[in-house]
Amino acid sequence: MDIFEKCYNYTYAKQYIASGYYPYFIAMQGNEGSEAIFQGRRLIMCGSNNYLGLTTHPKVRKAAIEAIECYGTSCTGSRFLNGTLELHEQLEHELAEWVGKQAALVFSTGMQVNLGTISSLVSRNDVVILDRDDHASIVDGARLGWGKVKRFQHNNVEDLERVLAGVADNLGKLVVVDGLFSMEGDIAPLPGIAKVCKHYGARLMVDDAHALGILGGGRGTAAHFGLKDEVDLIMGTFSKSLASVGGYIAGDEDIIHYIKHHARSLIFSASIPPANAATALAALHVMQEEPERVKRINDIGDYMRESYHQLGFNTGNSVSPIIPIFIGDDMRAAIFWKAMFEAGVYVNMIVSPAVPDGKQLLRTSYMATHTDDQLAKVLEVFSQVGKQVGII
Ligand code: PMP
Repeated sequence: MDIFEKCYNYTYAKQYIASGYYPYFIAMQGNEGSEAIFQGRRLIMCGSNNYLGLTTHPKVRKAAIEAIECYGTSCTGSRFLNGTLELHEQLEHELAEWVGKQAALVFSTGMQVNLGTISSLVSRNDVVILDRDDHASIVDGARLGWGKVKRFQHNNVEDLERVLAGVADNLGKLVVVDGLFSMEGDIAPLPGIAKVCKHYGARLMVDDAHALGILGGGRGTAAHFGLKDEVDLIMGTFSKSLASVGGYIAGDEDIIHYIKHHARSLIFSASIPPANAATALAALHVMQEEPERVKRINDIGDYMRESYHQLGFNTGNSVSPIIPIFIGDDMRAAIFWKAMFEAGVYVNMIVSPAVPDGKQLLRTSYMATHTDDQLAKVLEVFSQVGKQVGII
């Protein structure tokens, strides 16, 4: 049996490419934040996680350039050995303070944070309990751990309680949820989740990849609910509001110290390059100095959601600037996506396995730097295409 057989037989994506409706891996020729250039045309970008619009901010660009001039392009080693700069430590201190925790640990990607944190904490006699809609990096972190993995229904506190009640008292328990869900823009009901975790002696970790910069004045989901002490671990990434790449886990000193000495994705991988660390730090500073950006992204979210409702689109349970437009079928989603693209608006087409079959959607997301004119154009195009495709 040739191990490559599955590759030769994989025709699904090739059929999409041949049909002209393939929406993935489309190279950009330019990316200026709220607009991007594809195939020689300028499109309004409504498919990025650059929520605060900081990837092109002068202070953020300058910090990246200066870091390269000062430290070179790479640390060429793991945080554990030759790859820790004072810059990494400063970033950790400031992030911990921002999210209200004793300590933080910076990894090279958010994916690596979840892989390393969850797998290092969940040992043989432990159970990790996940929301069914948790991000793939959480699921993979849980699969890498040696403990049992259990799931509860999305955002359903009663179902979480049912699962926790079924776990023996003598087993360690870690509940991991997304704070702000990346595909549907809904928020985890943390007050209820934290309460049942406490009752059953489970520790709670929240993935704030999307909430950082949006919820709780930019501090995240725990701050949004006033629950920073009830959430034991807060994870975040630099690849969204902080305009870089990398990620962190924040919590009590002893827990972070343990993760630092056990997370294999930290220890056996090179550290985040100086320019990326400096970018994240500068973006954190801009977020703190310009809180109007956090307000603007939330105002845009409220305005766009309301506008989509008025046009007759189904945006599900979104309460944030991540707004799904539910289509419910692969081919229709592809036709809709392509017509949006042709009309000058880039959105993301999301199908299984990122969402279950029947919940195919176009994911729209916004930036604090989108202008009112750009938003009006997006709504006009959605209205035209929605009617053309028969969604509204
Ligand atoms: N968690 C969530 C909820 C995410 O959406 C993502 C990235 N899409 C990650 C973790 C991984 O972050 P990174 O891009 O920094 O690897």
